[in-house]
Amino acid sequence: NGKGIPAIEVRHLTVSYGARPALLDVSVRIEKDQLVGVIGPNGSGKSTLIKAILGFEKPDVGEILIGGEDVQKAKGKVAYVPQRGAVDWDFPITVREVALMGRYQHVPWYRSPSAADREAALEALSMVRMSDFAERQIGQLSGGQQQRVFLARALAQGSDILLLDEPFAGVDAATERAILDVLERAKAAGKTLVVVHHDLATAAEYFDNLVLLKQRLYAFGPPAAVLQEELLSQVYEGRLRVFT
Ligand code: ADP
Ligand code: MG
Repeated sequence: NGKGIPAIEVRHLTVSYGARPALLDVSVRIEKDQLVGVIGPNGSGKSTLIKAILGFEKPDVGEILIGGEDVQKAKGKVAYVPQRGAVDWDFPITVREVALMGRYQHVPWYRSPSAADREAALEALSMVRMSDFAERQIGQLSGGQQQRVFLARALAQGSDILLLDEPFAGVDAATERAILDVLERAKAAGKTLVVVHHDLATAAEYFDNLVLLKQRLYAFGPPAAVLQEELLSQVYEGRLRVFT
């Protein structure tokens, strides 16, 4: 069912904060079972695009369809790993409990999480290789380890679409590859993933398609087509740190 309908369709999207549009007339069609990267310099509208696909930011112009239906009706069908801010975990919560938070939509207020909910949370922790940390306080973990737990929480949600905003900030290269492998396995299991990502070396290797943004859509397509030196130097204006 739903064959031929893209997982995400963004049509002529313009989103402004005040006078200046963060995104201007952006159209992208993301097919199912793809791992898609969103690249572009700081302030180019990457997080805004992710938030619009979640229905958090309302378009000035344009529309967004999730599995063919309006984004506002699709709430909960999309899992999200936010860009990491400075989170102060000064209240006690274990890694297992954070992963279990991914199940909240499946747990009505009148009951506790079921054995299946708990199982799904533990399985997600195992996918990101954090099982050994299940009973630890999340506040005691490194930034990279916390990122893996947030990914587990999103995986536990069981949504078909996952949006991740810079999941590799503060993550060492080996862990980045380990997480990219997890994302590839999730794709093989039928998920569609959109990842804001700025390591162009791994972007070329792992992603089916790349979205190159700077307020407008500069390019969309396979990495070999998007990672063209001339195009990148135009968009990044010589501020490109990683390009090998
Ligand atoms: P990126 O994720 O690519 O760094 P963002 O989508 O966060 O870019 O931001 C795009 C532009 O919109 C930037 O110029 C940023 O300053 C602005 N912006 C983002 N969020 C807000 C906000 N809540 N209020 C006002 N301006 C914002
Ligand atoms: Mg951002």
